[in-house]
Amino acid sequence: MISFAKERQDVADMCRTLADAGYFAGTGGNLGLRLNDKLMAVTPTALDYYLIHAEDVVVLDIDTLTVVEGERTPTVEKALHAAMLKAHPDHGVSIHTHQPVASAVALSHEVLPWPAGTDRTGLGPHIAVIPYRPSGTGMLAKVFRKNLRSDINAYLMASHGAICSAPDFQAGLGVIRKIDAAAAAFLRERLEKRANLDKQLQASLLNTLNKIELMGA
Ligand SMILES: [Zn+2]
Repeated sequence: MISFAKERQDVADMCRTLADAGYFAGTGGNLGLRLNDKLMAVTPTALDYYLIHAEDVVVLDIDTLTVVEGERTPTVEKALHAAMLKAHPDHGVSIHTHQPVASAVALSHEVLPWPAGTDRTGLGPHIAVIPYRPSGTGMLAKVFRKNLRSDINAYLMASHGAICSAPDFQAGLGVIRKIDAAAAAFLRERLEKRANLDKQLQASLLNTLNKIELMGA
């Protein structure tokens, strides 16, 4: 019998939910779940999301990042999840995605406003930007900790992806959708200004972005 079996199964299930929705691309994306004051569960590194079982989910000490239980190697971004959970003591989950629309906008290295009308309860003033550092490195963890704010729980990681925290996985999925909707609104605004764009292409792109915005509304 493994410890935290239910919580670790929840992590495995959430991986499949995010992979099905296209927010986890290939093996890109990982997450952390707070288990108690000292421990968190994280995804294993480089394992197909559809093959992850509860026992593959690794239990770590939040402060030292040492493995407490599990045979697998924990995600290379474990330090980001630990920092996120520490900065947001009321939140139970930290989710890092390579969600396509937000990741595209993350190439611009710009702070992303929440679109007018977004319910910003618990979201903070905007989606902040973490300066680029290579993924899975101590440099990224360091710059992430430096830019973390307790009142902001959604971030674009420049030229990489997105990360957010939330009270639980269900709420986290809502934040991920809102990040994508904000990114879609950002792209739509730019597209609408491109008068020289082929009209058919413009209409089809706007249609795609509208659908993403509706999902996050
Ligand atoms: Zn990543």
